[in-house]
Amino acid sequence: MEGALCSGRVSEFDPFRGGSESPEAYRERMTAARALCDQCPAREACLALGNALPAHTRAGVWGGRFYPEYESPSRAAQRHRRNLRNRKRV
Ligand code: SF4
Repeated sequence: MEGALCSGRVSEFDPFRGGSESPEAYRERMTAARALCDQCPAREACLALGNALPAHTRAGVWGGRFYPEYESPSRAAQRHRRNLRNRKRV
């Protein structure tokens, strides 16, 4: 997307990066991604694109908005923490 500030910074926006990232680090990373969107000249186009996608395919940050919309970054961090705990049990 023309002017996208996230170009080349995919890992900063990836909601599925997982690994050993703590929930706090995840929340901070998502917050930083959204802050970058606030300055992005492509924000409106990005938001329109995100809204045009089928809801089940949207995840992470689009145009400064966090998807899925029903899940705040804090709630996503809780889910992330639960997933990490479950992964350690396996
Ligand atoms: S508004 Fe969209 S294109 Fe711009 S930085 Fe955010 S995710 Fe990337």
